Amino acid sequence: MTAKSTRTRFAPSPTGYIHVGNVRSAIYPWLLARQNGGQFIVRIEDTDRERFVEGATELILDTLKWLGLEWDEGPEVGGPYAPYFQSERRETYRVWGQKLVDKGLAYADPYTTAEIEAFRVAAQAQKRPFVYRHHRPENPPAWDGTQALRFKAPDTTHYEWEDAVMGKLSANEMVDDFILIKSDGLPTYNFGHIIDDTEMHISHAIRGLEYIASIPKYLALYDALGLKHPIFACLPHIMRPDGRKKLGKRDGAKSVTEYRQDGILPEAMFNFLATLGWNDGTTQEIFTKDELIAKFSLDRVQRSGARFDEKRLLWMNGQWIRSLSLDDLFERVRDFWGEAGKTANPAYQKQVLALAQDRLKTLKDLPAVSEFFFCEPTPDWSMIDDNKQLAKLSRQQQIEFLEIAHDMLSTLNDFSADSIQNCLNNFLQAIEQKPVIGFSLIRFALTWTQFSPDLNKSIAILGKDKTLARLKTAIEAGK
Ligand code: GLU
Repeated sequence: MTAKSTRTRFAPSPTGYIHVGNVRSAIYPWLLARQNGGQFIVRIEDTDRERFVEGATELILDTLKWLGLEWDEGPEVGGPYAPYFQSERRETYRVWGQKLVDKGLAYADPYTTAEIEAFRVAAQAQKRPFVYRHHRPENPPAWDGTQALRFKAPDTTHYEWEDAVMGKLSANEMVDDFILIKSDGLPTYNFGHIIDDTEMHISHAIRGLEYIASIPKYLALYDALGLKHPIFACLPHIMRPDGRKKLGKRDGAKSVTEYRQDGILPEAMFNFLATLGWNDGTTQEIFTKDELIAKFSLDRVQRSGARFDEKRLLWMNGQWIRSLSLDDLFERVRDFWGEAGKTANPAYQKQVLALAQDRLKTLKDLPAVSEFFFCEPTPDWSMIDDNKQLAKLSRQQQIEFLEIAHDMLSTLNDFSADSIQNCLNNFLQAIEQKPVIGFSLIRFALTWTQFSPDLNKSIAILGKDKTLARLKTAIEAGK
């Protein structure tokens, strides 16, 4: 395969949202196309009218755009092999179907559903499997496009092929006659994708492992059509975190859109999914897109199922959040501020964000670590009571320590973060306690949240008046 001819595709069916497990089938082809200066093509496989979901195509395209998987040919952008919606390509399938009819390798299915059912029942009664090839009509009617077109499968009983991920594969089976084009003129997946991959000069067919069992069918069909098949690559399943089953919707497998709404960055999602069952042979985990483009290879995709570990996604997201410039992050959190934060002055928001950046695992965490900067929190001493370390002190001691903190901070003229840190250190000395006690106490009294940014910096942003007033309120509420 020369570098120029790398043409990969993502071929979703618009039957719903993109489940995270399917996105690798878009990411890997995209990476290969970019790596080799080729083209990445999006083709919408909308031939199953019963499973068609209104709006699904838009959702899928939107997800691809959000992840930065821009396509060179396909919906919205067109291309030399348009249309890229299978429902608009009937004529192409008809022409290819006719070629097979002409070669005597496909026939118009003359049977009604009731007749087929009768064959099935008869086979069952004789305790043998029902196969179409036993009922091939001797003189099939001329195919006029209104009957289903069935493949006259070869008698081959052994298939061998190479899969770029799975290696050498083989199957001992005789493919049965299957439908190529349905009576509505639309192709089955088995036929449609082969015709389109051929017409669109696709070099790699990268898809999920669920297709591996059908490869003999495809091989038989490629052979009948006199075509060469593209490089096949089947991607292993994505497994539940416990590794025992395929990840399903019930295991909390969300759509990419949901992760996006939860404040996962596209860079993190991309990084996470690309490295789900792939590594570059080192322990590196954080990869930029450019690094992935440079390093990705199908032969390093692991063959066993990859475990979907949401904790790893959150960790990566945190890493990516910290790598952003403040201005960039500021843009991205636009819709994530809490009730009080969203109407605050942008300069103040930015100051808060600079501090919160270290604490965010997702953008959705922002209100929890920032709202106390924008509105007065309500004291809740049960938080202190429930804290293992602080519970070692009596309420009287706790209040006394807060009073000391209040007094020490009130004498401070320079209210910069450094000067506050000095003062806090002196405070620890004065009360003869460790930070887990002394600082946690002040944290609760100022924020009444479990997780807050650096204490000295938070105090500096709150300012002297607010800090002292909050300490007073806390003390009063605790008495
Ligand atoms: N339309 C198929 C699906 O959505 C695509 C399989 C393929 O990539 O060939 O699963």
